[in-house]
Amino acid sequence: MSEPRASASTPLRLLLASSEVHPYSKTGGLADMTGALGRALARAGHRVGIVKPLFRGVRERFPDLQRRDWRFDLPLGDRRVDAELWVHEPQPGLTVYFIGHGAYFDREGLYNENGVDYADNAERFIFFCKCVVHLARYLPWQPEVVHVHDWQTALVPLLLMHLRTREGWATAPRTCLTIHNLAYQGIFPGATYALTNLPWDYFRADCAEAYGQLNCLKAGIATADRLTTVSPRYAREILTEEFGEGLAWLLRRRQAHLRGILNGVDYEEWNTERNPHLPASYSVRDLSGKAVVKAALLREMGLPVEPPLPLFGSVTRLAEQKGLDILLPALHEMLAAPMRFVLLGSGDPGYAEALRRLQARYPDRVAVRIGFDAGLAHRIEAGCDFYLMPSRFEPCGLNQMYSLRYGTVPIVRAVGGLDDSVIDARESVARANGIKFHEYSAAALAHAIRKALVLYQHPDLLRRYQRNGMNADFSWDRTAAAYVEVYREACACGAAP
Ligand code: ADP
Repeated sequence: MSEPRASASTPLRLLLASSEVHPYSKTGGLADMTGALGRALARAGHRVGIVKPLFRGVRERFPDLQRRDWRFDLPLGDRRVDAELWVHEPQPGLTVYFIGHGAYFDREGLYNENGVDYADNAERFIFFCKCVVHLARYLPWQPEVVHVHDWQTALVPLLLMHLRTREGWATAPRTCLTIHNLAYQGIFPGATYALTNLPWDYFRADCAEAYGQLNCLKAGIATADRLTTVSPRYAREILTEEFGEGLAWLLRRRQAHLRGILNGVDYEEWNTERNPHLPASYSVRDLSGKAVVKAALLREMGLPVEPPLPLFGSVTRLAEQKGLDILLPALHEMLAAPMRFVLLGSGDPGYAEALRRLQARYPDRVAVRIGFDAGLAHRIEAGCDFYLMPSRFEPCGLNQMYSLRYGTVPIVRAVGGLDDSVIDARESVARANGIKFHEYSAAALAHAIRKALVLYQHPDLLRRYQRNGMNADFSWDRTAAAYVEVYREACACGAAP
């Protein structure tokens, strides 16, 4: 018998699963998104759980985490593995569940150390996926939809589908998979599939297998009831061979159930007023505090404040995706002009070394910090005049939206979410809030930087760009409402014949 279909206003019971969730653990935008989505959905009145691994340091930073009496004791290949369950309730309607397993998760890094992936990542995250499914099954409030994020949780839709179709759990929750970055698929030796304890007939080229290996993201793409990506343009791009990372054919097959939803910005966190990370407040009405932040940032980075020069900045993972191959030569060319550049980043040691060399060549105009520093990220976003984001591809990108909010004009390559969130003068003179370039080349980026230098010479025009950016609305409520539509569609696909 089918259940009556929920009306558009009925609160939903939702379980989000992600390896990273801000403010608990973060390496990139995934954490910002899952944390903010969970909070926004709970604010909207839904019953929300978020499940994530208990990584090192969380219990120290959140001493009010509570351990629950809960037994997992799950099969993992030919063994059984147990874990602890810890919970945190940061706001009404939102419970964060932490899967505690010292050997798997109490480590220096989330996925790697010193640039080397942990050898047992398949085991760690297959186990985590099983814990998510176990919670989905036994939590007393019975989630209706499980929303998973990226490869680390992408086996959950397959596990749930299996339980629904072959193990008699007819009311198993429906699933939604959000692809935050198709470049990371969770590919492991084929033998690791045995850890799932699933029948081997799912290990085939249109499900969990790719060229003899286990591909976690592919399994999720093949089996989730609904698929989303984090911007409308990226949703179109990944259907093409250029951006599809070998999975375009499968995504095209699932196109009717794929939707792009631009991430929102957590404006409580990314706020120019009374922000503990910033030395001064400012607003769209009074930008004077921004100059104070700029001067403080220059001093913090060890650069001279005088003479006043346009300041460009970047906060980024040092990865090929982020366009460092064109950023470095473009800066070598452009630093002949009067400008300064600051960068905060972590990742590839080769890029870090190249950036250090750039700093050594222009010691009074370039400052580079290698590492992860949330406070400095805010000060760079706020203290710079221009923000550089020349990505090769960009599923959504959050930093360009943060810089818009902070009155820092973004210079972006017109791909993915960068194209969806930034408006160039060629699209609308009145609404322009940033500078876009198209070709992936140092010359095209240098040309865009030259345009910025011209804009800097015209303060009234620059103010208009800043105002347009600061007034742009990427609030989470709108994004969360779009996800709720997707969840309702997912529920409906399991409703009556
Ligand atoms: P991605 O998720 O691909 O790395 P996004 O632009 O979507 O890129 O999100 C990056 C997030 O991570 C932003 O919140 C950004 O400020 C933060 N971030 C990236 N690198 C650093 C760093 N080295 N220190 C502090 N924050 C960083």
